[in-house]
Amino acid sequence: MTTPHHEQISAFMAEVAAQNPNEAEFIQAVQEVAETVIPFIANHPKYTEHRILERMVEPERILMFRVPWTNDAGEVQVNKGYRIEFNSAIGPYKGGLRFHPTVNLSVLKFLGFEQVFKNSLTTLPMGGGKGGSNFNPKGKSDNEVMRFCQSFMTELARHIGPNTDVPAGDIGVGGREIGYMFGQYKRLRNEFTGVLTGKGLNWGGSLIRPEATGYGAVYFAAEMLESQGQNFEGKRVAISGSGNVAQYAAEKCTQMGAKVITMSDSSGYIHEPNGLSEDQLSWIQDLKNVRRGRISEFAEAYPSATFHAGERPWGVACEAAFPCATQNELNESEAKGLIANGCIVVAEGANMPSTPEAIEAFQAAKVLFAPGKASNAGGVATSGLEMSQNSLRMNWSRQEVDERLLNIMKDIHAQCVSYGTDDSGYVDYVKGANIAGFVKVADAMIDQGVV
Ligand code: NDP
Repeated sequence: MTTPHHEQISAFMAEVAAQNPNEAEFIQAVQEVAETVIPFIANHPKYTEHRILERMVEPERILMFRVPWTNDAGEVQVNKGYRIEFNSAIGPYKGGLRFHPTVNLSVLKFLGFEQVFKNSLTTLPMGGGKGGSNFNPKGKSDNEVMRFCQSFMTELARHIGPNTDVPAGDIGVGGREIGYMFGQYKRLRNEFTGVLTGKGLNWGGSLIRPEATGYGAVYFAAEMLESQGQNFEGKRVAISGSGNVAQYAAEKCTQMGAKVITMSDSSGYIHEPNGLSEDQLSWIQDLKNVRRGRISEFAEAYPSATFHAGERPWGVACEAAFPCATQNELNESEAKGLIANGCIVVAEGANMPSTPEAIEAFQAAKVLFAPGKASNAGGVATSGLEMSQNSLRMNWSRQEVDERLLNIMKDIHAQCVSYGTDDSGYVDYVKGANIAGFVKVADAMIDQGVV
């Protein structure tokens, strides 16, 4: 891609690539930021003088540790554990834990880097961090998951705390895992504090936290549509994933009058041309959260739906798309297919699900495109609200948290519009999110000196 400052961008990226070899995902995430932030910095020399971007790509601290545990057969297992404390300029490190076999340093560094910008956009005082393990919870018994979580937390507990670093969930880490980790932290430290978010409601959790990422992504997309005088009524929506984010994105789309026609997991996608009913969505929630089954079972239970093994849902005609599974799950040819089929709005529920070429295609076609760091920020924002409630030792009502979430998403949308609108009136939400997220963190770093 040729941008006005491509020489500076190339030089900067060459250095990042040399310093972080074999970290393709991290380099991809930095490249996206560099392309939009370096031209901005060129007009704001204080950021160059203080070498802010050079400092921001270097995590403040990386923790890597061994996680030994025993399976139900009594055999010793070992996994890798990580926590990346990326940037604490505007608050304690905050970000999820991912348990998935694909987890490595590059994946967690990309997630941690994006988290810094995302958390800044939420308007709440949270720095950025991310962590996890290459542990695969799939197919493990509850007792195995518990023993793994206890071992993982036995090391992590030394490094986190309600004013230091507050992890949450992500892929493979839901209410069950947060519960086991919270229990072990409490036992080790002998204190009941808001050290994790995504907790159960009767032990410090916040209403709306499970729903927040999916609901927030839909609130953001609704703002984008409204800016064009449109809404979700009657629109066909393609969603990927069937986990936490996907389920609640589907629920909110349906509540707003849209027809959710696809959901997926790593084995393929289901197509329900009539749009998922409330009952069907509850069926999927039970399948995924309780029975822990595969999405293909949906098409066996409901003959109106079809299952497409090994495929992603982007070939289906729709007006809106929410990629809510994982990184790089929507490529250039899939983006062009969506555009050709009439898709006008894409809001990322997952982190970095669209490849750089896909984003370029959406923007060239003037599709309303929201990057995850803006559109999925509702999850961490509500985690921030959970932290506030824990500090105050109070519980806000469902309506109160939902209203705050809606207002935060509107605020993030406004920040993107403010920094991302071009001369023709088209909003480059990638540019807007990157620059708005950058400015707050960068100014705080300048104020705090060379640390
Ligand atoms: P879950 O573990 O609840 O669900 C993940 C979903 O994505 C599952 O349907 C899973 O299918 C699918 N998936 C995971 N990995 C792959 C893969 N490699 N290929 C195809 N499908 C895959 O995770 P979440 O819903 O919490 O997270 C989804 C995305 O949203 C992630 O990118 C996460 O970082 C992001 N996110 C999550 C937030 C949250 O609050 N939870 C906040 C902000 C962003 P299967 O079951 O077959 O593995």
